[in-house]
Amino acid sequence: MDSNSETGLNKKEKRNVTEYYAENVFNDIVMRQRLPKNIYKSLKKSIAEAKPIEADIAEVVAAAMKDWAVEKGATHFTHWFQPMTGITAEKHDAFISPQDDGRVIMEFSGKELIKGEPDASSFPSGGLRATFEARGYTSWDCTSPAFYREGSLFIPTAFYSYTGEVLDKKTPLLRSMDAISTQAVRVVKLFGNHHVKRVITTVGAEQEYFLISKDTYKKRKDLIYAGRTLFGAVPPKGQELEDHYFGTIKEKVAAFMSELDEELWKLGVSSKTKHNEVAPSQHEMAPIFSTSNIATDHNQLVMDLLKKIAMRHDLICLLHEKPFAGVNGSGKHNNWSMSTDTGENLLEPGKTPHVNLRFLVFLAAVIQAVDEYQGILRASAANPGNDHRLGANEAPPAIISIFLGDQLTDILDQIEKTGLAKSIKESGEIKNILSTLPSLPKDSTDRNRTSPFAFTGNKFEFRMVPSSSSIAGPNFVLNTAVAECLRKIADKLEKSKDIEADAYNIVREIVKNHKRIIFNGNNYADAWVKEAEKRGILNLRSLVDALPTIIEKKNMDLMVSHGILNEVELKSRYEIIMESYIKTVRIEALTMLNMTRSQFIPAGLKFIHLLSENLNSVKNSGVKADTSVQNELLIQSSNLVASIYKSVNQLDKLVQDHGSHKNILEHAKFFRDQVMVEMSNLRKLVDELETIVDHDMWPVPTYGQILFNVD
Ligand code: ADP
Ligand code: MG
Repeated sequence: MDSNSETGLNKKEKRNVTEYYAENVFNDIVMRQRLPKNIYKSLKKSIAEAKPIEADIAEVVAAAMKDWAVEKGATHFTHWFQPMTGITAEKHDAFISPQDDGRVIMEFSGKELIKGEPDASSFPSGGLRATFEARGYTSWDCTSPAFYREGSLFIPTAFYSYTGEVLDKKTPLLRSMDAISTQAVRVVKLFGNHHVKRVITTVGAEQEYFLISKDTYKKRKDLIYAGRTLFGAVPPKGQELEDHYFGTIKEKVAAFMSELDEELWKLGVSSKTKHNEVAPSQHEMAPIFSTSNIATDHNQLVMDLLKKIAMRHDLICLLHEKPFAGVNGSGKHNNWSMSTDTGENLLEPGKTPHVNLRFLVFLAAVIQAVDEYQGILRASAANPGNDHRLGANEAPPAIISIFLGDQLTDILDQIEKTGLAKSIKESGEIKNILSTLPSLPKDSTDRNRTSPFAFTGNKFEFRMVPSSSSIAGPNFVLNTAVAECLRKIADKLEKSKDIEADAYNIVREIVKNHKRIIFNGNNYADAWVKEAEKRGILNLRSLVDALPTIIEKKNMDLMVSHGILNEVELKSRYEIIMESYIKTVRIEALTMLNMTRSQFIPAGLKFIHLLSENLNSVKNSGVKADTSVQNELLIQSSNLVASIYKSVNQLDKLVQDHGSHKNILEHAKFFRDQVMVEMSNLRKLVDELETIVDHDMWPVPTYGQILFNVD
């Protein structure tokens, strides 16, 4: 697509990025320009300290926001929120306010900015709120900027019920940011940083996705209903040549990517990196990191825009974790760190990490958190799609472990043995690559692409996170787990008479007790699965295995004690996610039934008919020809269609079985252990049929046609 859809400019007249970057964001510059000084200051203070905003200030801010948005062309405003569906929700109200003389004026009050009341009855609540008392409220989150989009002013908000129960993904995330800040500030102060008021968690979410042509998509009900292929024989070529990763970007994809960047930049999303990924038709985008909260909001925008902009290019963006069997799935690499409001990254090791005690303490807190709360962390990355990805081709396994690299591991070893670290393993220099190239210092860690939780220089990269889900869940769990470990450290150190000695002791204790979670080797090797088991590390293979950790006492205590979610809210989340798992698998099973009955069996029968006609006509011709091929194919396809028919009936029976399951866990297990098993049996049979039936008779585009079709 040549023209810029919003501005109508064509390529040649494209504006400079610096001119339009964040032009649709009510950001700091706009606030400074449009708000009276005292109002601006007060608002900034609330944002910096994550404190509530006074009503009179909200009034002025609302008016300024409205004027700004109306100048951009807005007629409406919407409280934009993130219910438990994992996607965003919006209901738009016009600014119009009728006057006595029949005219309207555009109005927007402080009250409307601060609080909204969408009808909440149809969002998943896990039994928290009966439909007859469906009041739900949204309330302005001033720590993520409002923005203009498609005729509306979008106001990021939190979502909760009449009785105050949390109904969304944003609220626990914001609370977890407060929790970790509170504890981290205590620790930081002990190391002499007295001016630090807040510690902020930072996130950069790398987003993987597939792009396929709209034509092929429309011909596959599985892609339409399930977002992934439920059938499909392996094509002659997949990703084995590794020629797609970082490969040259095709023109159509490049045009899509450049429009995506433009739209994201206008919204202040700092899209930075784009490239082809490992699987054919797979790509990635990554923004520059920001606060966890803004990164989460931005990632929602990224997912939304990926889909919408793809359509403009006659493409479909698939965000599913495993759209195609046999090639890589998609994830989100959640890069995470903590930094002070004075701009220091607390996970920056510096040149002498072995004596950087503050760094070692924060590192130790993360190690302890990931080990102690590995179950709920794993659960935070569980969604139905990820079950097909974790542990599969090149993806992180379902076992949580930390990659630290040789240098840090060695430092922690020394501390464990002697209480101190005396030296660092130098990583050395890379020399003699080219005569024109000076020697370069080596990074202290190489990349370990197999680790689910890898230290990458000055941040951790949580790679288990599913590509289609909100990143709020993994981040609030991680933040809270680390907050708890920092709390324990602060409790001890605040009483200490010799902070340095005691801090080393704390690090030493943590290494002793939690080093099992550190693993620098190949996470994809079978040996690791056995080794992890020996170490007592959890291997929660599926969502159904992982989810119960949410309601384990230890994890509930964690969440409740830091004020993130209460027990009722946690139980409701458990129910919501389990239920959505069951529903997802059911939809997939029904789609399989539908496709098999209305497309694959008829195709098989047509082929059988063709074969038998052929056989008959050869026989009737009187020529003594070899008909063994027709014979064999006829037997093979008839047998397959018969087996498929049997499997379909079996699957149907299972899906219709509303039998009495003791509880939702048993119900989900039934779907995993019975329904899914029959689904994969059926798939195998149909995929086999696909390989023998006349290609022109096959009713849906094949893997080859889907994966190698975008030019
Ligand atoms: P790598 O190549 O090691 O993955 P990149 O520099 O490409 O590292 O960064 C990957 C992502 O991590 C980007 O989104 C980047 O903005 C983000 N990132 C970098 N530093 C931090 C940090 N301190 N906190 C959170 N995310 C970060
Ligand atoms: Mg990375």
